[in-house]
Amino acid sequence: MVYIGIGSNLGQREDNCMASLRQLELDGIKILRQSSMIETEPWGVKDQPGFINLVVEAHTGLDPEALLAVLKNIEGRLGREKTARWGPRLIDLDILLYNSLCMDTPELTIPHRELPNRDFVLKPLFELVPELSHPVTGRSVRDMYEHLISFL
Ligand code: ADP
Ligand code: MG
Repeated sequence: MVYIGIGSNLGQREDNCMASLRQLELDGIKILRQSSMIETEPWGVKDQPGFINLVVEAHTGLDPEALLAVLKNIEGRLGREKTARWGPRLIDLDILLYNSLCMDTPELTIPHRELPNRDFVLKPLFELVPELSHPVTGRSVRDMYEHLISFL
């Protein structure tokens, strides 16, 4: 079971997100559930359009590295150009959680490093799996989300 975070802040943002779901399915990633789409403020680099974000729960036989390669390939197919970190993008696909796997390499950190800090990830994740716990810290999505929004 994997949770994939999807975001877009350029062009037809909802359409870009929907297109990425179709591409995931075409690449054999079975989408089981999807959160609501939410509109969110830009994070990191503030001077850019707002985002549409959602999270999907999916099944895949791919290992994490192969899954990341597929996500990057879909980003490319959907027209994402190499841009600044945290900058505007047609589509961003991030691996948030991969079962209860923990890994940290230069290319891939799972759970996603910023997961506890991003309300646009935690809110849709909370909708899907409020009681799921972070495999490193043991904190539930509910705890992380409530903690984060108490600072907003
Ligand atoms: P961001 O998503 O942080 O705005 P990018 O989408 O440009 O930035 O990703 C930068 C790099 O982050 C990717 O090339 C990838 O190698 C790396 N990365 C590390 N951990 C993850 C993860 N869990 N999911 C997706 N990418 C990751
Ligand atoms: Mg990314």
